[in-house]
Amino acid sequence: MEEKNKEEKLPEEKEKRNVYFELIDKLVLVALLLFVVSVGSFVYYRLEYKLYFANTSYQYDTTIIDTPVTGEFRTSVEYDKKYVNDNVQTESDALNLIINESEEQKKKCPNNNNLEVEKRIQSKFKVAAVNLCELDPTYAKEIEKVMDHIYKEYPGIEGYMSNLTLMNSNNSNNGTLASFNYFFLFSTASRSRGYPWVIKNQIILNSAYLLDPNLPITIKNSSRRVGNDTSWFPANANRASIVAHEFGHYLSFVSLNKNLNIQERFLIKKMNYSNYNKMVTAYKNGTWAKGITDEAYENYNSKHPGRYENEYEFRASISQYAVAIDGRGNFIYDETIAEAFHDCYVNGDKAADASREIVKVLKERLK
Ligand SMILES: [Zn+2]
Repeated sequence: MEEKNKEEKLPEEKEKRNVYFELIDKLVLVALLLFVVSVGSFVYYRLEYKLYFANTSYQYDTTIIDTPVTGEFRTSVEYDKKYVNDNVQTESDALNLIINESEEQKKKCPNNNNLEVEKRIQSKFKVAAVNLCELDPTYAKEIEKVMDHIYKEYPGIEGYMSNLTLMNSNNSNNGTLASFNYFFLFSTASRSRGYPWVIKNQIILNSAYLLDPNLPITIKNSSRRVGNDTSWFPANANRASIVAHEFGHYLSFVSLNKNLNIQERFLIKKMNYSNYNKMVTAYKNGTWAKGITDEAYENYNSKHPGRYENEYEFRASISQYAVAIDGRGNFIYDETIAEAFHDCYVNGDKAADASREIVKVLKERLK
């Protein structure tokens, strides 16, 4: 009886075992699929992460030609330190990290005569951290005046800049007077996770030039016309106005943030990265800036057809630096905007038509 039962049960068991095998096959397939997907996304994430780390900061430099750095004038401020910090969760954590680091830098400043100016700039214009340690106090006050003027003329631009700081020169910034440095990766969570990131957007002032008492002469020579050519910088450029140039970059950057309705300032979470990166890319590759100069040229040309043969001539009427090219030979359109702003700042109604037309469009985009 038993054997018979066994025999009778056999096909059933076989069927059951087949079902089990099929199920196991399916499970293995699903597991494999999951494995491939997770390895893939891990590799993708690491690549994206590494890609970013390979180029963690972008900047537009204001350079001056034929003036080598002496290395004589140095600052105690270190603007480019980076941190790993797991405790940053909110925008205010990010701000505190930036502020605390700046306060540490201030403690290292041997004899800071600019503490009051730094504090005023921080509170009036919502710049998180200002480090002007060794700068001539008169010059520091001139910079404050530049900012008074700009922030009054363009309300609502506060809070997009984390730092205004001195920097030490090295070979890579040979010739650089100052820079607008944005998307600088200041802090990440532990390396395996990465996010959230704390980024800095900062105006950095090269101590090699800005602490040099000869700076006014150097700039004067660079804004002098030779023959019929425009000068390197707009006419009447001075040591305060070269800082205004950097604010031209800042205004362009803020206008893009406003137009794309970017909410992030200094804290970038993983889920917000791609949105923020889209904005940074449009700024970095110059599409935003070119849009502004194109629109200004069209506006001008419709009022004064043929006054300039083409957009290049229109831009070149501002200064030689307004048509600067990058290492690959492409125009840096954001320099056109910064120089137009620089020209209007220093020359007002007497600025080049192109400068005034460009600043008009920029102002419109800041509303
Ligand atoms: Zn510039």
